[in-house]
Amino acid sequence: MSQRCYCLTAHHQPLELKTGPVPEPKGREVLVRMTGAGVCHSDIHIWEGYYDLGGGKKISLKDRGIQLPITLGHEIAGEVVKAGPDAKGAKIGASVVVYPWIGCGECASCRSGEENICIKARSLGVFTPGGYASYVIVPDAKYCIDIAGLDPAETAPLACSGVTTYSALKKLGPRLKDEPVVVMGAGGLGHMALKVLAAMGGKGAIIVDIDKGKREAALASGALKAIDGSAADAAQQIIAATAGGARMVLDLVGAASTVNLALAAATRGTEIVVVGLYGGEVTVSVPLFPLRPIAIRGSYVGTPADLQELVALAKSRKLEPVKVTRRPLDEANAALMDLKAGKVVGRVVLVP
Ligand SMILES: [Zn+2]
Ligand SMILES: [Zn+2]
Repeated sequence: MSQRCYCLTAHHQPLELKTGPVPEPKGREVLVRMTGAGVCHSDIHIWEGYYDLGGGKKISLKDRGIQLPITLGHEIAGEVVKAGPDAKGAKIGASVVVYPWIGCGECASCRSGEENICIKARSLGVFTPGGYASYVIVPDAKYCIDIAGLDPAETAPLACSGVTTYSALKKLGPRLKDEPVVVMGAGGLGHMALKVLAAMGGKGAIIVDIDKGKREAALASGALKAIDGSAADAAQQIIAATAGGARMVLDLVGAASTVNLALAAATRGTEIVVVGLYGGEVTVSVPLFPLRPIAIRGSYVGTPADLQELVALAKSRKLEPVKVTRRPLDEANAALMDLKAGKVVGRVVLVP
């Protein structure tokens, strides 16, 4: 038994294989043997070293406290194989998905159960070693959520794309059950949003995307309607499809153009939840907030409770698994480069 991990040692350089002894869990930590590690688009941002804000502005990941070297991978499924001396509730042998958006445990966000928005985040695969490895140290057994009966590779993506769409859709509240949600973006997250919305008992989604192939794929996956976001009358089409204006918008693109389109198609009481990180800036007339009244809010991944609820939906078979392509851990670098090159359809999950 030894540890093999694929490590980002320099931005824009191939991931490096590092080998060594299997890490030993200390204190409350548990050791998880990786059984599935999803390759996510945000891994490419970490590999590149920045987020593009548009207009020539960038957020450097170094400024956000991300230090190299780092083992990527925040969508982790695994088997609990060992517990530290002070670990509580660790189930050795359990098949689990790991909640990766771990906070400091002490700030107001963490104390209210919103570790995902902790300002001293120590997310796995971002700030601390992640899942592109044979073994992962998890700081506490409470982050290991039992997935008995589920396929680990199919379940790993729930930790990021799954919980991100679930948490964002939850913010739209009970209207979901009776009215369609306008979903901007029919890529990987859009596909996940369709499945999660169905599992939540949602009325359905009107998909907006500029790519014809993606619109057709969304219709095949159960979208109620698909609208070309680049059409000159896109806002009018959304208003017609929602019988008077979009009351709920999930923006998985997060561009100035998509938020402006959402505002153009808005009606009284519209709620816009922005998840995507494409970039850009928008100008909003302030009186619209009280007069319409509209809300624009963001959503970032999800809480530990959100992931537990989502796993329960998967166990109840209400949530259909997403299609995944399995690749051996030793192809971690190739898998990441294929995703960057746009060659990946569906989700790639590394397996041991
Ligand atoms: Zn991710
Ligand atoms: Zn915190």
